[in-house]
Amino acid sequence: MTALIARLKAQVRLKLLVLALLPIAVLLPIFLGATMWHWLGRFDALLTEKVTSDLRIAEQYFVKIEEAQAQSIAAIGNARQLSDARAEGEGALAEFLDRRRDQIGLDFLIMETNGARTPEPVQALLQRDRDRDMQSGLIVASPAEMALWGDGLAERARLPIRDTDAARPTDRAFEERGLILWAAYQIEGGYLFGGRLLNRNLDVIDRMNALVYGGDVAAPSDAGTTTLFLDDVRISTNVRLFEGERALGTRVTEVVWHKVVERGETWLDRAFVVNDWYISGYMPLSDVTGARVGMLYTGFLEQPYRDQRNGTVLALGLAFLAVLLLAVPIFLRMARDVFAPLERMTSTMQQVERGDLRARIGKMESEDEIGAVARHLDRLLDQVKDRDEALRQYNDQLNDLVDMRTQELRAANEKLEETYAQLILKEKLASLGEITAGVAHEINNPIAVIQGNMELLRMSLTEEMKAEVAMELDLIEAQTRRINVIVGKLLSFSRSGEMSDHSSLVNVKDAVDSALILVAADLRKHNIETRRIDRDVPPIEIVENELQQVLVNLFINAAQAMSKGGTLTVELQESLRDDRPGVEIRVSDTGAGIPADQIAHIFDPFFTTKQAEGTGLGLSISQALMERAGGNITVESICGRGTIFSVWCPAASFCPDDI
Ligand code: ADP
Repeated sequence: MTALIARLKAQVRLKLLVLALLPIAVLLPIFLGATMWHWLGRFDALLTEKVTSDLRIAEQYFVKIEEAQAQSIAAIGNARQLSDARAEGEGALAEFLDRRRDQIGLDFLIMETNGARTPEPVQALLQRDRDRDMQSGLIVASPAEMALWGDGLAERARLPIRDTDAARPTDRAFEERGLILWAAYQIEGGYLFGGRLLNRNLDVIDRMNALVYGGDVAAPSDAGTTTLFLDDVRISTNVRLFEGERALGTRVTEVVWHKVVERGETWLDRAFVVNDWYISGYMPLSDVTGARVGMLYTGFLEQPYRDQRNGTVLALGLAFLAVLLLAVPIFLRMARDVFAPLERMTSTMQQVERGDLRARIGKMESEDEIGAVARHLDRLLDQVKDRDEALRQYNDQLNDLVDMRTQELRAANEKLEETYAQLILKEKLASLGEITAGVAHEINNPIAVIQGNMELLRMSLTEEMKAEVAMELDLIEAQTRRINVIVGKLLSFSRSGEMSDHSSLVNVKDAVDSALILVAADLRKHNIETRRIDRDVPPIEIVENELQQVLVNLFINAAQAMSKGGTLTVELQESLRDDRPGVEIRVSDTGAGIPADQIAHIFDPFFTTKQAEGTGLGLSISQALMERAGGNITVESICGRGTIFSVWCPAASFCPDDI
């Protein structure tokens, strides 16, 4: 039962805890996780949006410088000074064009009249779109072509290719081609052909970077990077290598190249750029003929955003933990308000189980269902206690009744045993009486003959002979007398009622007086003092001789027990036995006492401790005589201190007639 309650309690506790903590410990994290997941998605989308817009700005800048360059070349083409210089001659024209080239920041500006310095595909394009005054865009030029346009152009374009992880395999050691932002403007008899070499053109890239990510060319911001690719080679960039040097000649990863240059798509994702992860945007660049020749890249380091994002996630996680730590004790406290009454109920039940029926749950603060259950339980316990008390009372009554009956039964049993013992004794005495009467009778005659012949023997012996055998004769006579005494006693014991003398009212005090006179000589011989405590006692109905015989026997036994002297006390008193009035004669001596193992046998016929001097018949005959008179003899003795015999006989008027 206790284990069951404990288990239930544990289950209820568990359920309540789950109920209390489920929303905060499970649902809240799920909600938080979902929100975070959504937010992280949005965050990534925002980053992608940002890189997209960065890329657009870079592209627009690129378009803008292309347009500005084209307009500048057109303006030169339309200028009167150009016609003047042409008119002046070759030298003046070359000087004019060089001056204007430097003014507008071009790497070359030439006038083509026969297309000798124009690459084949460009020529085809110009031919095709003859009706258009202006053509501009990107072109990829070989070192030989560049050598025709300006001194040192091919050398500037030449970039050593550096080993780059995850880049497309290549056996090229140098990028010798040049990516040129080019424009051609039709003039009379030809066209003005100019452009800017983008390889190593850090001015263009730094301006672009400043435009996209802030800062200025002199002090570039490190918020992001921009790069121009010719095919997959970084020809102009502000991405730095480990040493802080620009990563010119390094290459883009193969996967980006495939997607952007090969397939012409835009890459908007994280990408490993030279030495770190960047949120990157790559867009393809096509030359004037529409062929994809490179890429424009903008990107910013992922790490700060990742740190920020991780920081936010961590902060949110910590905030959740803090909320959990704050809320759990509150929930637990609330849950405890529910456990506490349950636990009080449980402990009360346990007390009751241990036997304390007074245990109660007591007053509950809560007025809810639990409070009602507790009150109900207390009422039930009251009822149980009342019933238990009633049962106990009933049980006590029953026990009393059983005790009473048992006592009655025991008393009845004792009475039965006593009666049975008396019956047996009577039976024993009766049969013993018969035997002893026969034996005594048979012995009497031979004794008489012996005694007679002893007389004759004495008379027929001379004095001399008498003197010789005097001792033997005395011995024979003494023993014969002893036989006589025994036979006499046996006869008096065996005498049945009708054979005994008639009983009469006897004054006990007088009977004690005469008995003491009979034993006076014996008492004196043993130096025994006699004490009397006489009280007025009613007469008893008994054969006077028999009472005397009983008393004499007791006095002689006492005298024998006090062989070295002592006090014999004879006390008379009235005494009730089984509500019957009677007289008690207490005969006390200060003799040796009777050992405990012998006391039960002293009333047995022939039990004696006195060997030849005793017959063992005195007490048994005395008991028989007293019982015959309706009384009895009892004994108490303390070994070494003395013995008390109590002779009790009913007072005369109560003495039963049939005894
Ligand atoms: P007897 O005196 O011939 O032995 P009794 O029947 O009178 O026979 O006594 C039986 C025994 O009881 C005695 O032998 C003795 O041991 C014991 N007895 C009787 N009276 C006393 C007494 N007053 N003090 C001690 N022993 C006693």
